[in-house]
Amino acid sequence: LKKEERSTVDIISGIHGGVRSDLAQAITLVESNATRHFHRSQEIIQEIMPSTGRSVRIGISGVPGAGKSTFIEAFGLYLCEQGHKVAVLAVDPSSSKTGGSILGDKTRMEQLARHTRAFIRPSPSSGTLGGVHRKTRESILLCEAAGYDVILVETVGVGQSEAIVRDMVDFFLLLVLTGAGDELQGMKKGIMELVDAIAVNKADGDNKARAEKTAHEYKQILHFLQPATEGWETKTFTCSALNNVNVDETWRIVQEFVKSTKKSDVFDERRNAQKKTWFYTSLKDQIERMFFEDEKVRKELPVLEKQVGENEVSVSLAVEKLIGSYRQ
Ligand code: GDP
Repeated sequence: LKKEERSTVDIISGIHGGVRSDLAQAITLVESNATRHFHRSQEIIQEIMPSTGRSVRIGISGVPGAGKSTFIEAFGLYLCEQGHKVAVLAVDPSSSKTGGSILGDKTRMEQLARHTRAFIRPSPSSGTLGGVHRKTRESILLCEAAGYDVILVETVGVGQSEAIVRDMVDFFLLLVLTGAGDELQGMKKGIMELVDAIAVNKADGDNKARAEKTAHEYKQILHFLQPATEGWETKTFTCSALNNVNVDETWRIVQEFVKSTKKSDVFDERRNAQKKTWFYTSLKDQIERMFFEDEKVRKELPVLEKQVGENEVSVSLAVEKLIGSYRQ
């Protein structure tokens, strides 16, 4: 950032003109934890708001090795060839805890990364999952303002991150591999109730028939589950990211989804609900931060914690006292 500091106005007009370096710089500001950067990034977001929202936001999840990067590269290249502009963002739950990353480190999607119609950004690497949530949501808006009309948000199938990604995308795809029936039984049905399509990847060579069978098994299980999107039956199909098979089918399904949910208003209702959730999540995050950063709270907290531990004060009374000291 220091080397060529662009003014906020320059960055905004650059984004509107689709200048990648300005988009990248704005995302860097969004991802920064410095207060000064936070204010600048908010200024930018505020200005670009009118040119956001005109994209299809697609989440893609799967365990490590499921073929996410291979799939995203094939899918992204296909979309670029169709005339779309594709942005790839990531939500990596590991990076916020350990600083390391399941998604970002290896050299991935080399061909797509070089494509002029594609923009790839690894997961923001610091902060809480809530922080990553905000950063990714704002990055989506910036990409949209820069003219990217398909946004792919990648995540790993670990714990909370899928629910967070569900809350920022229109369509959610789960990539799975062939597995025995009992593996399917063990699979958390929670994730299956979050997605709009399940693709059994690596359906090639000797694995093709097994993949078809697995897809069929998923279909049967889905029958008993709640669909993620009202009025949309969760689709199952097989694909081979490596051989580019059914990558186009994925896009056909997404388009069908968009058409049907726009018609039923579910598309816009979901986006509105997502904004509302985001608003409340941000508000709560901010309130929490203000509270714990307050000097009186920081002084009182360890004292009360000790007293609670030694049964000198009840938990409820300690909470009341602490909030009382914040208000003083
Ligand atoms: P990720 O960890 O989910 O991003 O998975 P990768 O895209 O890195 O893929 C893991 C491994 O599976 C790599 O060696 C890929 O070449 C391989 N792979 C990915 N997709 C396919 C596929 O459709 N067929 C086959 N046979 N291998 C695949």
